[in-house]
Amino acid sequence: MKVHEYQAKAVLKSHGIPVPHGGLARTAEEAKQIARDLGGAVVVKAQIHAGGRGKGGGVKLARDPQEAYRHSSNIIGMDLITHQTGPGGQKVKQVWIEEATDINRELYLGIVLDRAQSRLVIMASQAGGMDIEEVAAKTPEKILKEAVDPGAGLQPFQARRLAFGLGLEGDGLKQGVQLITALHKAYVATDCALAEINPLVVTRQGDLVALDAKMNFDDNALSRHRDILQLRDTDEEDPLEVEASKYGLNYIKLDGEVGCMVNGAGLAMATMDIVKYAGCSPANFLDVGGGTNVERVQNAFRILMSDDDVKAVLINIFGGIVRCDLVAEGVVQALQGITVDIPVVVRLQGTNAEAGARILEGSGLKFRVARELKEAAEAVVEAVGGAPNP
Ligand code: ADP
Ligand code: MG
Repeated sequence: MKVHEYQAKAVLKSHGIPVPHGGLARTAEEAKQIARDLGGAVVVKAQIHAGGRGKGGGVKLARDPQEAYRHSSNIIGMDLITHQTGPGGQKVKQVWIEEATDINRELYLGIVLDRAQSRLVIMASQAGGMDIEEVAAKTPEKILKEAVDPGAGLQPFQARRLAFGLGLEGDGLKQGVQLITALHKAYVATDCALAEINPLVVTRQGDLVALDAKMNFDDNALSRHRDILQLRDTDEEDPLEVEASKYGLNYIKLDGEVGCMVNGAGLAMATMDIVKYAGCSPANFLDVGGGTNVERVQNAFRILMSDDDVKAVLINIFGGIVRCDLVAEGVVQALQGITVDIPVVVRLQGTNAEAGARILEGSGLKFRVARELKEAAEAVVEAVGGAPNP
């Protein structure tokens, strides 16, 4: 789950990481009032679940409350386009107004889980502020890394090594070690999936401040973090994904034309690959789960049908725990309850697959029943009028 910058900053602050003072505004009038209360120059920052806002025009310096008002009225309501949003951008509904910081240097500090090493990796760089992806691609030697042993935890020497590598000295070095240690603690305590401070700045006075903050949380751990779950902003998520999550469906919207309904995440991935190989693109990833029932199939179908991009549906079910005849009955019942006006290809395999195929064929509904996955994928490509892969 993603959160806004201002929310991530609140989490960091509660773990002792210094962040600028600020306030959240939904209108330009509120922004002006916050700027007045803060006093001095402020920065107006669009709050959307995407980075690269500065380059897209979503971060502006304002010298006085009137200028904060002007910038805010331009930014609130705009479709902010960054390299992390789609081409249509993301509508800005609120701005974070914070005190302008006197920047001496912009650094980068981040923590990710390295699945290959099964360890958290802390990354730090003196080349902060700009596209860290570009730094990683072109000058990877500018990024320092420390892998944390999960048993021993972050060692003080590792935090010191990173802080030295950031070119910090004296009191700044002490602050750096504290901040790196605090970020690691925050990451573990809140079950983060990604934590990033870019830029982490050294002010003219020599202090460290987190000027930007990004935190993604592990969805599977949210059940034990009610406070973090409260930070969810469904306005920022794809409406169909929000709808699917209400029914416990694992759904991710993609930009192809074949709606896929599959049981099991592994089979869903394989199905998407085969669809692509056959000459079309999947419109979504959808795992209806192992114990597929009528209600789940029906909800999944409604979600696929409300996506205008979907030109045909491919149902690919493997009957392992569930029996294919039960799944087939479920699919038939589900489709009797809703309007489906596009071609549907069904492939059932596994326990009682033949009985399942007969139920589908005898239902009077317009299915194309396929036995093999290749056949199913080719049928769906034909249905959307795509060119088959020779
Ligand atoms: P994004 O990464 O989405 O572009 P940032 O929060 O990193 O947004 O802001 C972009 C740039 O704006 C920063 O690299 C920094 O130079 C400047 N900036 C952001 N917040 C402040 C602030 N409070 N004071 C001064 N400059 C800021
Ligand atoms: Mg940033």
